[in-house]
Amino acid sequence: MTPIECPHCHEPMRRWNTPTFNFSDGLGFCTPWLWICFNDECKYFVRSWEHMKKSYGQKLGYRFMIHPDSHESGGIPVGSPIALRGDIIDEREEERRLQLEPERGAIMEKIHEHEKMIEMWKQHLKEKGL
Ligand SMILES: [Zn+2]
Repeated sequence: MTPIECPHCHEPMRRWNTPTFNFSDGLGFCTPWLWICFNDECKYFVRSWEHMKKSYGQKLGYRFMIHPDSHESGGIPVGSPIALRGDIIDEREEERRLQLEPERGAIMEKIHEHEKMIEMWKQHLKEKGL
């Protein structure tokens, strides 16, 4: 998938797996992933830390995010620059997985066929009284 550009720093955004639990609003994200800017130099990200510190005295920042379907944008709160990074979708890994998907399907089908054949043989032997 071609990444979209962050409007704040013009770096490509990353796809990020949304957690299975819901956020505090109880609504969740209604999407399996979001576009998030993981550039630590991003103006939006850098300013968010300053803003949170000045306004609320909190050590908290926001990463810029865009909803892939509705294109709604907003900030995702993070407690540190490394937060959320574990759930970034590895595009190369994802591609490999998608490529392997049909192969796995074919293997499962073969296994199923073999199982059916064994069943038929068992039935056959039973009928012959063996
Ligand atoms: Zn950015």
